[in-house]
Amino acid sequence: MAKIEIKNLSKDFVANGIKTVHAVKNASLTVNDGEVVVIIGPSGSGKSTLLRSVNMLETPTSGQIFIDDIEVTDPKTDLRKVREEVGMVFQSFNLFPHLTVLDNITLAPRKVLKMDKASAEKLALELLEKVGLKDKAKSHPNQLSGGQQQRVAIARSLAMNPKAMLFDEPTSALDPEMIKEVLDVMLALAKDGTTMLLVTHEMGFARAAADKVVFMDSGEIIEEGSPEEMFTHPKSERTKSFLDHIL
Ligand code: ADP
Ligand code: MG
Repeated sequence: MAKIEIKNLSKDFVANGIKTVHAVKNASLTVNDGEVVVIIGPSGSGKSTLLRSVNMLETPTSGQIFIDDIEVTDPKTDLRKVREEVGMVFQSFNLFPHLTVLDNITLAPRKVLKMDKASAEKLALELLEKVGLKDKAKSHPNQLSGGQQQRVAIARSLAMNPKAMLFDEPTSALDPEMIKEVLDVMLALAKDGTTMLLVTHEMGFARAAADKVVFMDSGEIIEEGSPEEMFTHPKSERTKSFLDHIL
């Protein structure tokens, strides 16, 4: 069953009021329930714009997006609700600096889901255990490493019990020694059956976790396939050339 369905999505930006940038061109993509789909491609190829469109952080120029068969691109859809139901983790961790780790995680469940304090804290501690940071509940973000902060950011997203998780280069801002601890958490989520759509340059992760790899270039989805197909037998010359540069 399709969890996220992107149909003929295009997004144009008008830069400096004159030049039109076709950031995404007629892209169609399905993420089925429980699937992990990894988007790869050169810088500026439209990966973030496509991902951000899923929870309408970008408003598409044309096309449709459905989450659980609800059209999020329908002007009548409540976007606040859509964003509550789709978790997003960015390159920068964006934790609230003045709140403890525990309070960062309990804030949205308490305010939005109206969960009582005790239940929210129980949930937060379970999630912290899942990301290996139960002992940091009372710490503040500035007392944590980048990798730990990103794991808290993941736990915070999970606290809303999202229908799907979006990740935009979640390890790109991390020092090399911290990348693995974040990827390990993401791998565990993938194995747990979390529906995930992500942009990453971590091809090892893509090989290990992805059901499908999608290659984008110049705003277009050039090809998609299993990690095996994409990394070993890419069909398009553009995919081959990209992979030759990064692998
Ligand atoms: P990627 O994530 O693959 O690096 P992006 O989706 O960020 O690519 O960008 C795709 C294209 O859209 C790029 O040419 C970028 O400069 C342009 N773009 C992205 N966001 C904006 C914006 N807010 N205004 C104007 N142009 C943008
Ligand atoms: Mg990007």
